[in-house]
Amino acid sequence: MRRPAVLIVCRATVALGRAAAFAAVITGTAYARQPFSIGPVTAAPGATASGTLTVPARPGDEGTTIPISIVHGTKPGPVLALTAGVHGQEYTPILALQRLLKTLDAKTLTGTVILVHVANMPSYLARTIYYSPADGKNLNRVFPGRADGTLSERIALMLTREVIERATHVVDLHCGDGNESLRPYSYWITTGAPGVADAGKQMALAFGLDHIVIDRERPTDPKASVYLSNTAITRGKPALTVESGGLARTDEESIAAIERGVAGLLRHLGMRADGPVPVAQPIWIERSEVLRSSGTGIFHPAVERGHTVAQGTLIGRITDFHGRVLEEVRAPFSGEVLYVIGTPAISKGEPVAFVGSTVGGPK
Ligand SMILES: [Zn+2]
Repeated sequence: MRRPAVLIVCRATVALGRAAAFAAVITGTAYARQPFSIGPVTAAPGATASGTLTVPARPGDEGTTIPISIVHGTKPGPVLALTAGVHGQEYTPILALQRLLKTLDAKTLTGTVILVHVANMPSYLARTIYYSPADGKNLNRVFPGRADGTLSERIALMLTREVIERATHVVDLHCGDGNESLRPYSYWITTGAPGVADAGKQMALAFGLDHIVIDRERPTDPKASVYLSNTAITRGKPALTVESGGLARTDEESIAAIERGVAGLLRHLGMRADGPVPVAQPIWIERSEVLRSSGTGIFHPAVERGHTVAQGTLIGRITDFHGRVLEEVRAPFSGEVLYVIGTPAISKGEPVAFVGSTVGGPK
């Protein structure tokens, strides 16, 4: 008897989400001079407002908060959502949004920018990689979220309803996690409707990172979208995932690349008159593969990010805690190391490296 009741609730929440999205279109574009509100945060036209969304507690956890800002331009236009801190030890996007909060000018902006400063507060405060300390889940694997779920699932649902469904375009900003040494790249997800996929491609070019990984394998079911940017795409909104930075660093180059990328997008979307032009000669990564460890122990990398590797090149060794080699991880095809794990801890099944090639694979 319980099961149908849950289903009815889910349908009702989906309907509410659509209504909210429709309302967002009205407030965000047709009547842009109206204020723009998300939860308790309201920005008047030509103003920036900051505040906090609250994910209420449920039995088993204390809930959490999500700090956001809204930069609401005076003229109607796109609603661009920028999310940082989905993974709590990915600092360069978080710091880039702190800068953008100061530099985005609502008085001259066309449209609206939503900044999600730290999407995953439990992970940020506990300095965890991949997984939330609250429930052991990867926030970027539980979208679109669940109202009766664990804390990560409820964060995902709040981001889906309050941010993604309110936006017309979404950029999920990442970098290598605290253990990943990464060269910058973006993902162009091709699985959306043709118009959405093409708009996403133009966004990737406008963001300006020259390496663009073509991702043809994201789910197409909006109820099982899994990833944040894919939650937008499965709802008909162009979206992009970006990676710049890593290893829990806060380097200027990686932060500046994100700022530059957002500036390029603002120009591309007509939200600002000036900005960097799209990348002229993108390097399309047609084939890519995350290499995973078959053992638990100590990882010894043999390559660095950005290295060119041939098929069979040693990427690194995994040893046990007594120095015995458990596995030698080798490149499955010729290409470039987009990221490689840069710290020793490794568990069975976890990523060791991400290798990409400009030459198409069998898929
Ligand atoms: Zn990430």
